[in-house]
Amino acid sequence: MKKIILNFALAVVLSSCESEGVIYENAYVIEDINLIDPIDGIAENMSVVVRGNKIIETFKTKEVKLSSKNEIYVGSGKFLLPGLWDTHIHFSYERDLSSAMPNLFLAHGITSVRDTGGEFDFVNKFKEESIEQPKTKSRVKIAGPLIDGKFNVYDGSSPTFPLLSIQNNDLEQLEKNALYLVEKKVDFLKAYEMLSHEQFKLLAGIAKKHNLKLTGHVPLSMNVIDASNMGLNSIEHLRNIELSMTNQSDELFEERKNLLKNETNIKGSTLRTMLHQKQRMRSIYSLDSSKIKDVVKVLAKNDTWQIPTMRLYKNFALKKYKNLEYFSLLDLLPPTKKEEWINEINLIPPSLDQQVIEYTEWSSKMVRYMHKNGIKFMAGTDTPIGYLIPGLSLHQELEDLQSSGLSELETIQTATTNPAEYFNIQDSLGRIKSGFIADLIVLDKNPLDDISNTKSIHAVIKDGHYMKRAYLDSLLSN
Ligand SMILES: [Zn+2]
Repeated sequence: MKKIILNFALAVVLSSCESEGVIYENAYVIEDINLIDPIDGIAENMSVVVRGNKIIETFKTKEVKLSSKNEIYVGSGKFLLPGLWDTHIHFSYERDLSSAMPNLFLAHGITSVRDTGGEFDFVNKFKEESIEQPKTKSRVKIAGPLIDGKFNVYDGSSPTFPLLSIQNNDLEQLEKNALYLVEKKVDFLKAYEMLSHEQFKLLAGIAKKHNLKLTGHVPLSMNVIDASNMGLNSIEHLRNIELSMTNQSDELFEERKNLLKNETNIKGSTLRTMLHQKQRMRSIYSLDSSKIKDVVKVLAKNDTWQIPTMRLYKNFALKKYKNLEYFSLLDLLPPTKKEEWINEINLIPPSLDQQVIEYTEWSSKMVRYMHKNGIKFMAGTDTPIGYLIPGLSLHQELEDLQSSGLSELETIQTATTNPAEYFNIQDSLGRIKSGFIADLIVLDKNPLDDISNTKSIHAVIKDGHYMKRAYLDSLLSN
């Protein structure tokens, strides 16, 4: 579909018999496409000029006569969207999959990712590569390791709990570790569940002082209102918020406080699982609507965003990965990884746990309620955890966010303008405006008609570099 007039003689003939039209030097034009700006919505039959890595102009196709000397991609009938973010990924969860992840992201139109926890040196390599090769690698923002307490959960003790966190026995250690990450220029910090109240407070202070966003799971030693008031900017997986929304909050808190002393020295991962098992569904079955209201009011007031990872929960609850249809999607993975996942999946009993299903349904309702009350969301998946396929799973997450009550355009915002705003780069990324970075995707079908149309990717543009479907497919061939 790219038509470049290379024949000089022909160009001269054309220009001599008709008015020449506008030429954009060292640029290309995506001609006659429907723009979907996440804020302004759809604008039909527009043309977009890209020079270097920037959008330099957008105009109504019929208002500008283009010279045929331009490099042109015809966009008629197609839809242009800003490149998408997956705001919750882990490069280091399955290290032997990590090298395949960048291409999987790019080929699915994920032009930016936020790595929410992994050993600093390991995840920083992906960030550095993304900076060195901006035209062929998705942008990578990193937290470095999860900052956890004395009994850290992801301690490397098993494949389910690889080393994603730093253990912090006391305040001094936490300060030293957090400042090390600040000095290494991480993009945000992530608080984890076993932090003490005092450790969390110190960490929130460090994040604020160094102008970094603090995300995390609400520590089990705290209630969500305190965490938000102290400066937790965003919450992953809605984790532990239900514990502060029940009419048994005080009793549950007392029980947790005692168990968190961990006098028998059990592993952090075991302790955390035990606490979730003891308290999560008890909370869900004794929810108190006035407490829910209070919590959501505080989160909205403090601008505490949510990354609810809906598909992760749904996948666990419904064991969707056991469907044959899902097995065929695993062809996207390197063959050895596909085989490994299938072997693991086959060992999982097919029976569904009603409580997990109820929790998942509750999460979806909570997203709807929070959205109505002004809380902002970002689309994130937790891939490759839960057998979520890097790249593809973001599109599945968008479907789940939309079905939880967001409009199609609002859903698109969770993967474009919202993450840009989160990292304070909203003036240069996430919209289709002149001056913005040309991270874009061309779709065959309109995602405002059906959000699952974000999967109909015809081309991906990263940092101005236009990659056609055939090239994207070559990235996916293992
Ligand atoms: Zn995660």
